[in-house]
Amino acid sequence: MARIAFLGLGVMGFPMAGHLAAAGHQVTVWNRTESKAQAWAKAHPGQAAATAREAVAGAEFVMTCVGNDDDLRQVCLDEDGAFAGMDRGAIHIDHTTVSAKVTRELHEIARGKGISFVDAPVSGGQAGAENGQLSIMCGGDATDYDKAQPVMAAYARICRLMGPSGAGQLTKMCNQIAIAGLVQALSESLAFAEKAGLSIPEVVEVISQGAAGSWQMQNRYQNMAENRFDFGFAVDWMRKDLAICLQAADENGASLPVTALVDQFYKDVQQMGGGRWDTSALIARLRSEDASDHVT
Ligand code: NAP
Repeated sequence: MARIAFLGLGVMGFPMAGHLAAAGHQVTVWNRTESKAQAWAKAHPGQAAATAREAVAGAEFVMTCVGNDDDLRQVCLDEDGAFAGMDRGAIHIDHTTVSAKVTRELHEIARGKGISFVDAPVSGGQAGAENGQLSIMCGGDATDYDKAQPVMAAYARICRLMGPSGAGQLTKMCNQIAIAGLVQALSESLAFAEKAGLSIPEVVEVISQGAAGSWQMQNRYQNMAENRFDFGFAVDWMRKDLAICLQAADENGASLPVTALVDQFYKDVQQMGGGRWDTSALIARLRSEDASDHVT
């Protein structure tokens, strides 16, 4: 069993750290808003630290799951941040969705301090984190990955090393690109069903078993039918991820026309007040377009 520090106890980090404690690891947590760390320590065997630097003291593995590039830089590089307190030989596993650029930057800084850095973004959402069934895509050195993989197994359905530093984040970009267009197409299909006077549950029962079936269809059709989005993977996070994808495509020359368009649709959802709504809220945008068509 390992000594582990987990930094960032949001929707994802809170249950992930819980799985590590349940697996018998010795876990110390830290969260910027201290009350969440206190709540975690009440609910699980493990302790809360006052700073990231204190939390990582003596840890063999340090996990982060925070917001964006700047947040990750801050948590790693601040005076009271992780890198200031980590022992030489410790392995930092980052579960945040960030750019490959910041990942490689931190990998290099870590290496200079004798620390290993593995990028390990996840897919599977809140339910995947709570059930310990995440897909984890990793980048880094094979020797570090081999040590980190058995620890991540506490919350993984599948965990793979995709290549050198940044390759995990690039794989997560493939994931988000594949989802963006799919959710828009699903929204159009279900909104069309409504207009055609069909029952969404009945349509989904049939078409989900054919070529149109998807995770999004199975797990999101019901709340989409009910226009209920107060849960799940937030539109603000999706726009952060799509900005990362579009920037990376600019750099590697990939063409992402649908992704760029859907990013603008998500901007409309933000303007409707839906920044924290689940990404399936693209259908709410279609319904509001219909409503404004009728008004004019
Ligand atoms: P969340 O619920 O909003 O939690 C974010 C966490 O990061 C909180 O603990 C927050 O601390 C901390 N944080 C943010 N900025 C910070 C900073 N500058 N310094 C220190 N701590 C900071 O987000 P989440 O849903 O857990 O997502 C976390 C990451 O996983 C994101 O990169 C997201 O894109 C990715 N992800 C999320 C999902 C999902 O379904 N939610 C799925 C896959 C990947 P406070 O409590 O103090 O705010």
